[in-house]
Amino acid sequence: MLPVLDTIVALSTPPGRSGIGVIRLSGSRSVAITQILVADTLFLPHPNDARLRTLYDPANAHVLDEAIITFFKAPHSFTGEDVIELSCHGSPVLLRAIIDVALGLDARIADPGEFTLRALRHGKIDLTQAEAIRDLIDAQTTAAVLQANRQLSGEVSHTIRPSREQLIDVIVRLVLGRPNVGKSSLFNRLLAHDRAIVTETPGTTRDTLSESIDIDGVPVQLTDTAGVRDARDAIESMGVARTQRAVTDADLVVLVIDGSQDLTREDHRILSETDLHRTLVVLNKNDLSTFDNETFLRALNDRKALDVVSISAKTGAGVDDLRKAIMRQFSNGVDLSESLIITNARHHDLLNRAIGAISSSRALIEKRATEELVLVGLHNALRCLDEILGETTTDDILGRIFSTFCIGK
Ligand code: GDP
Repeated sequence: MLPVLDTIVALSTPPGRSGIGVIRLSGSRSVAITQILVADTLFLPHPNDARLRTLYDPANAHVLDEAIITFFKAPHSFTGEDVIELSCHGSPVLLRAIIDVALGLDARIADPGEFTLRALRHGKIDLTQAEAIRDLIDAQTTAAVLQANRQLSGEVSHTIRPSREQLIDVIVRLVLGRPNVGKSSLFNRLLAHDRAIVTETPGTTRDTLSESIDIDGVPVQLTDTAGVRDARDAIESMGVARTQRAVTDADLVVLVIDGSQDLTREDHRILSETDLHRTLVVLNKNDLSTFDNETFLRALNDRKALDVVSISAKTGAGVDDLRKAIMRQFSNGVDLSESLIITNARHHDLLNRAIGAISSSRALIEKRATEELVLVGLHNALRCLDEILGETTTDDILGRIFSTFCIGK
């Protein structure tokens, strides 16, 4: 049995002057408080019907406002409790006065996200959907709205519940290639503004620059570091060391090659060291007459499975194909708009932990370990998935998640 919660009240529309301001009440006293506000102890609106009523200040019987009152009866409401919504005129002073009346009648101001938290506690939604509501309200782009709506529909939960679905972690590092092939130009082209230094002297991109961009609504981190080459001086060798570290961390390495020049020994060496599945080859400078795709493809020999895109960072030709190719690497050939995308860092971390736990169990099975030992990993994985859905999440973690919500939601 859930404990009976007190009645909460909050302004659910933004503070400030507006046409309408909506005050929301949730809890067992919502109707009683409304009856006092309308000065009618028998007032009981039909669930889901909107009623126009006059609101009074019970202290002096002065008229406060004419408001549309909508009643959502438990359990058929957003929170699962009795909910009253008062659509009032959007004057901050008036709205404050109405909320004060409710507070004087034993309601209390809702904490940030508390309406959603109650919906979670009453099993109306799971934690991924609660987070989707927050993300929807905070969305800055239409892609973010689409993603939040997909999560709100329970997509994340539905995919996670039956199985541990593929996880898409999109961190792309644009790092690799020898100097002067056009990495900085491409980096700038993708960012669409000048953050990296473009120069004609080989090896001058010494600093690591990092920037997040949005490709089809998926955040991608681009890092541009010094090219791989035999370092000529100390500063450059620091840049090269950073490049090698970034490559180790990267989920996808974009290798940029100057397609207008013959492949050098260095290019061959870098190509032979690349991992087929984590590398995308970009043949740059296809605007130049010396650009030669065929020679390059022949040079690939046994590494034909590499994904190759030809572009010009200068004119922008092929850059859209490159964006698509980057996304393709993370979708396993599945159309991203159809497949599950994990964009929430909390889900991502827990999924990774679940995968790690399952791998350790699998390793134990191969070693013919006892069932008890194998089960430890499986239980750990289950706990991670349950935590995503909010089923075993501690109050401490819930508190942290809900503190990022706005009041009134
Ligand atoms: P990085 O050292 O790999 O970062 O290379 P940069 O981006 O600094 O480019 C090196 C030189 O190649 C600069 O002079 C750029 O203007 C030029 N460049 C880069 N991309 C292209 C391209 O697509 N076409 C042509 N024609 N020149 C390019």
